[in-house]
Amino acid sequence: MSLVPNTNIRIDNFAYMKNDLTKYTFLLTHCHEDHIKGLHSSWNYGNIYCSQISALLISERFPNLKLLVQPLELDEPHWIYTDEQKKEGVTLTLIDSNHCPGSVMFLIQGKKSGTVLHTGDFRVSEKILSHPALFPLHNDKLEKTVLYREFDHFGDQKKQKPLLPGKKFIEQSHKSI
Ligand SMILES: [Zn+2]
Repeated sequence: MSLVPNTNIRIDNFAYMKNDLTKYTFLLTHCHEDHIKGLHSSWNYGNIYCSQISALLISERFPNLKLLVQPLELDEPHWIYTDEQKKEGVTLTLIDSNHCPGSVMFLIQGKKSGTVLHTGDFRVSEKILSHPALFPLHNDKLEKTVLYREFDHFGDQKKQKPLLPGKKFIEQSHKSI
């Protein structure tokens, strides 16, 4: 659904790959149908980073994708390369998004991307709000957190108004629990 700005990282975005020669880095937040659109048993466009549970679910459904699926531990930073020359990469932290088994949000930190929190589908909880990896949300280090009413992509940022800036969102979320 999303292409992270200034990177080749696609999140829950596996379709329309046929004539695209660009090398992408794929992230999967969770395995609900609307997030795995485009995946099929002969899909072969690169590694897919996700939680251990999502990796199991994908491997069970598409055994041929077993070698492409790269399960990552939650709650700790992982460095992943985003190019074949291994010159560029980002730090990825997976955080339980409290939505369904294996669902995660991605905290992406990189030179070109800046700091991006991709929540995917999530249900806010005290555990999420107090997650140490999200402390940057509480100060100026986070460059941008954008929530769209349309919620399906980062594109056309100029046309769309953010629903709430990150800090405000956190404060309001605290109040609504
Ligand atoms: Zn979902």
